[in-house]
Amino acid sequence: MTRIFINLALCFVMVGCASLDEAATFRGSYVRGAMGTVARIVVHAPTEAAAAQAATEGFALIDEFERVLTDYRPDSEVAELGRQAGRGPTKVSEVLGSVLELSIREARRSHGAFDPTISPLVKLWREARRSGQLPSQDSRDVARSLVNYQDIQFDPVRRTAELRRTGMALDFGGIGKGFTADRVVALMRSRGFNSAMCEIGGDFALGDAPPGTVGWRIGAGDGGPSLTLSNCGVATSGDVEQHVDIGGVRYSHIVDPKTGLGLTSRARVAVVAEDGTTADALATALSVLGPKDGFAILPAGAAARIAFGLVSPQVSTTPNYQKLSASR
Ligand code: ADP
Ligand code: MG
Repeated sequence: MTRIFINLALCFVMVGCASLDEAATFRGSYVRGAMGTVARIVVHAPTEAAAAQAATEGFALIDEFERVLTDYRPDSEVAELGRQAGRGPTKVSEVLGSVLELSIREARRSHGAFDPTISPLVKLWREARRSGQLPSQDSRDVARSLVNYQDIQFDPVRRTAELRRTGMALDFGGIGKGFTADRVVALMRSRGFNSAMCEIGGDFALGDAPPGTVGWRIGAGDGGPSLTLSNCGVATSGDVEQHVDIGGVRYSHIVDPKTGLGLTSRARVAVVAEDGTTADALATALSVLGPKDGFAILPAGAAARIAFGLVSPQVSTTPNYQKLSASR
């Protein structure tokens, strides 16, 4: 039962929409492993060949962004920026600069609950997952002292960045998938395919509604409402896919910058926002903040849903969640 609920609640699934003029366009749906998870591109195009070509370009973009943004590869641009910490400003690529700028915006909005400098604490979490032991208080204190988005110096005009203190590093795990999905949908649009969507591991960017429909139908499958949405982002977060159990306690891969430990609240968060980047970062932030402080930071037009525990489908709902789904 537990498992079923978890699986259902974990990922939004596209349940599809009937198109009234299916003959007019070809609906291509393409799935591939990417960014340590599964990426899906759906694109409506005049022909099958055009849809396939666009999706191929989309997946190439995802691979390119992964090479820039992942902290799992020592040769990524983000890893290099970490090695340059404390050594003065470094020129960064357009992609890294954009993610950095948006990450700082989301860190400010969430009062540091979402923090792209979380890397030293996430590395401790990964170590704990390997060893099965919690990090010592000392190592946690050291790592925590290196986590603070206010110590990022970013110059958008020169497009340079600096992490002010040696030992600091960036982790875009909480925003990179939504950002990439947005850019894939923008790429489809630039090719003339406005009706497209991209999902990377539960983070969605949605373009115009599929032809003949009012929107992409997105269902959480956990008894919550199924949403019909377009031109926005949807994201999920929580401790289901990645966690470590130590001493009977489950620590999520989302770390609270204040405690330095993985979350133990077992919250499942779903967010609808203006784009995938915002939804992705907000879902991580709301996991840390919980409903009271979390709902308070939601920007106008965004909506969120938080479920706790294993069986309770819904504890808190923003007032505009239902309204938003009905009005789209
Ligand atoms: P998922 O990867 O399941 O979609 P998230 O979008 O919440 O979930 O991203 C979780 C990832 O974000 C972690 O694996 C880690 O790399 C990073 N992260 C963990 N805690 C934080 C935090 N407080 N702020 C920003 N990023 C975080
Ligand atoms: Mg996220």
